[in-house]
Amino acid sequence: MKKWHMTVTQNEKQKQSTLNAYHTGIRIEETFPNIERIEIGYIRTHQTSFGPNNVKEAMVLKPKFEAFFIIPCLNRECSSVGFDLSNDIFDMYRAHQKEKTGRMNCCGQEAPDHPEQSCSGTLEYTIKIEYKSID
Ligand SMILES: [Zn+2]
Repeated sequence: MKKWHMTVTQNEKQKQSTLNAYHTGIRIEETFPNIERIEIGYIRTHQTSFGPNNVKEAMVLKPKFEAFFIIPCLNRECSSVGFDLSNDIFDMYRAHQKEKTGRMNCCGQEAPDHPEQSCSGTLEYTIKIEYKSID
């Protein structure tokens, strides 16, 4: 029997519906009232047949922004929605931690037609949180 694979379109649709579930519309200030600013600097890498690809980026999140902390994988065909930094941010907030550096391997599959091959995407990141001063 032929193994069933998702098409690129089906893969995109599935990722979109997973992402929609993460978009709650809840703002950072509602979940984390003491946060003034979150800065995330990150480097995404992905091994392609043309060699490694990597992109260095940064983002700043303000209290009015949605509490959404997923960075998409650099591999566009990947089956995963990306790297979820929510747990890191929750842990930092609980510990009132100001800076954290980490690295994640993508948990997705390389492409819809390569379900047995795990994605080679990685994320290296530094999260900086500024807290509101309590007077
Ligand atoms: Zn990936």
